[in-house]
Amino acid sequence: MAKETFTFQAEVGKILDIVAHSLYSEKEVFLRELISNSSDACDKLRYATITDSKLAKDTADFKIEIDLNKKEKTITISDNGIGMTRDEMVESLGTIAKSGTQAFMESLEGKDDKDVQSSLIGQFGVGFYSAFMVADNITVISKKAGSSDAWSWKSDGKGSFEVDESQKGNQGTEVILSISDKDKEFLDPFRIESVVKKYSDHIAQPVILKPQKKGEEDKVLNNASALWTRDKKDISAEQYKEFYHHVGMAYDDPWLTLHNKAEGLISYTNLLFIPSTRPFDIFNPDRKSNLKLYVRRVFITDDCEGLIPPYLRFVKGVIDTDDIDLNVSREMLQNNPVVAKIKSAIIKRIISELKKKANKDPEDYAKFWEAFGAVLKEGIHEDFTNRDKILEVSRFKSSEVDKYTSLEEYITRMKKGQDKIYYISGEDVEKLSQSPHLEGFKAKGIEVLFMTDPVDEFWLPSVGKYSEKDFQSITKGGADLDKIKTGKKDTKEKDKKNNKSIDKLVASIKVALGDEVKEVKSSERLTDSAVCLVAGEGDMDMHLEKLLKQHQQIDKTSQKVLEINPSHPLINDLLKILDNEKEKNLFFDDASWLLLDQAKIMEGQPVSDPNKFARRMNALMQRGIKI
Ligand code: ADP
Ligand code: MG
Repeated sequence: MAKETFTFQAEVGKILDIVAHSLYSEKEVFLRELISNSSDACDKLRYATITDSKLAKDTADFKIEIDLNKKEKTITISDNGIGMTRDEMVESLGTIAKSGTQAFMESLEGKDDKDVQSSLIGQFGVGFYSAFMVADNITVISKKAGSSDAWSWKSDGKGSFEVDESQKGNQGTEVILSISDKDKEFLDPFRIESVVKKYSDHIAQPVILKPQKKGEEDKVLNNASALWTRDKKDISAEQYKEFYHHVGMAYDDPWLTLHNKAEGLISYTNLLFIPSTRPFDIFNPDRKSNLKLYVRRVFITDDCEGLIPPYLRFVKGVIDTDDIDLNVSREMLQNNPVVAKIKSAIIKRIISELKKKANKDPEDYAKFWEAFGAVLKEGIHEDFTNRDKILEVSRFKSSEVDKYTSLEEYITRMKKGQDKIYYISGEDVEKLSQSPHLEGFKAKGIEVLFMTDPVDEFWLPSVGKYSEKDFQSITKGGADLDKIKTGKKDTKEKDKKNNKSIDKLVASIKVALGDEVKEVKSSERLTDSAVCLVAGEGDMDMHLEKLLKQHQQIDKTSQKVLEINPSHPLINDLLKILDNEKEKNLFFDDASWLLLDQAKIMEGQPVSDPNKFARRMNALMQRGIKI
């Protein structure tokens, strides 16, 4: 095949543009990225040789070499890993296959501020392309393990690249960077040595600096043993962090690092991390886990579904075990009993560690919760075995506390006679705290939890209880407020005598509205607002219904109950005209519909009929404006 020229995928072009304008304050990270890729390539080949020993023919020992040529102004990074075929080169070095790239690019759109761009892209990681920060030209020569052809890839990072046949002895990959004049510092062996030590010490293969002069020897720059096999006390926080960057393809600080050796029925080592920032693609359904499975230090897969449940998909790191057969195929891993046991053990370990953090440093825990709470809560719904433990470490905003509260703490604040955990669900705390449904609860000082994540709608109905207490939506059914003693003066007391006429009003409004509402009731929960809508006792929570309707999961909504506030002045005025036949005929129906429509507006729903709404509103306003 002859030489061919390709243009980069649009997203790559954009990234290269940002890279060219040097977004990283530390350009030196290019070396970390290239060494990281070489290390991955060695891991991949080592796994492939288990099933196909012929592939190992050129590979006595895996290694990564760095060769500096001051005269030619080049840095060459080579490895004897798996290599790339021609098509793989075009694919891997010309496009970005990562899930969520599209979404990520959209988030960059319109952000011209270089600092913002660079912090965003730092989160995404530009991998191979970061080499264009220091190189005017890059040539990659690669020979795939088991193949006899070598191919070259060349680009100046300005829109296109060339692929051509090439020559190469050993299998593996060579990346040759033509260093630009302003970045000559990287041709200095001491500079390279310090960069490798800083970022790549944990790499399991030796990173070797080739001699600069005849007679000198190869110099191994890193520790060259897998980090998780080392003793905890010999590993610095910095080294953990760099390892996390490598293994997790993440560039933030780990929020939590969990390094343990488990010995017993099953032995394994885990080195797990929880990131401090939420990856932008955490809710992307195609997102893969970031947990790598090793068997006796041999990398097996980073896509083992059975190793960690989806609700812990933010956990990154490595599990290494001696108890799985090295020859196990990746497919067989799904149903492997050892994998299942490791999974249940690490779930417990992670959750118990979260609990410790939550107790020890609630403020720091709140940061974790902001980033990953919505993901973790999926487990309440999905993982029956660990449901209660997850509920224990779950945190909520509420009507009575500024910070997050646990359910345990909520229970200690429950009022006498209160036997339910009250909640209200909706889009955000701001809106919910203004909700008319809350009024009566606030007046009595009864705490209501705010449920603002879509996932809450799924676990709440399926869980039902915590610590023997039912969860109860305050926008549904009766509010039972009368039963709860709070010591505060009962504002409703004086209205009791009005009961009879209220009943009459309620019945008349129901007649006016007909089937538009399920029922009209005098409310226990309102203090300031005149009306509100609630769902019937056995019906779906209103917020859930709204979500399902938005996603076209249901096409009809259930009839609602209209509650009216007997102590509201407007309701009292309506009471007065009930006995005046003439006035009543004139506008009682309009007033009833306007009450219903205002309740709908407060729920964020459209009014029943916009034309009629406007007409009724005008009629009443005319009556009101008396000059
Ligand atoms: P990432 O490492 O996150 O996948 P990179 O931009 O660093 O992204 O690399 C893109 C892809 O190019 C890699 O996934 C790999 O398939 C391929 N690649 C890069 N360097 C090498 C190498 N030294 N050996 C084999 N494949 C490589
Ligand atoms: Mg990479």
